[in-house]
Amino acid sequence: MFDLFKRYVDEGYMKLSDEGFWFGKERMIFYYTTFNARELMLNSKFGGSRYLATKFIVSRKEGQLLMQQHGAQDMSALANLIDSLIKIINLLGIGKLRIVESDSKSGFAVLSGTSNAALERKAESPSDAPVDFVIGGLIAGTVSYYTKRKAYAAETKCVAQNGVEECTWVVGNKDDILNYIKDSAPGKTEAAQKTIEDIEAAENEIGSRQSLNGII
Ligand SMILES: [Zn+2]
Repeated sequence: MFDLFKRYVDEGYMKLSDEGFWFGKERMIFYYTTFNARELMLNSKFGGSRYLATKFIVSRKEGQLLMQQHGAQDMSALANLIDSLIKIINLLGIGKLRIVESDSKSGFAVLSGTSNAALERKAESPSDAPVDFVIGGLIAGTVSYYTKRKAYAAETKCVAQNGVEECTWVVGNKDDILNYIKDSAPGKTEAAQKTIEDIEAAENEIGSRQSLNGII
């Protein structure tokens, strides 16, 4: 993968400028500067549940934009769009994901895999709770783009946690997420509910700040 990156950089096809990350003439993923600036606009401090909720919201928007620009050749099934996202996430070295299940009709998906940020985190110091709010947001943005409805994500387990080999993200509307987790990982229901409530609270606050409406 790095050889491929190096070739693109050498040929001038891939560029990282102050304005962001470009692949050819297209923005590939994350205008880094903008991304960080948006986070700073939304947060007065780093860390904590509010910070993670806004990280999710910003990433969800990025996921929507990513699908708008790159999408999939065949947009008839949600799985095709998620496959496209998985390829981008893999190409950029963000992580390696796979679809466990996806339902186009309800706009629901479960993905598993590993996140490089979470693996780095575990190597430094394992986390008590899941950390991949960016990946969760990107998947939720992809689902939102497909359904044209707001989607959420709850990570039920994360490689950043001790003894966990794979992350799992449950994505869709709030009820579908909680029902799935009730059956598949009942001990995680409360944490998932709290995560979604934190995101909703952040959405409400951001939504009331007119200049930031474009973000959510
Ligand atoms: Zn994770």
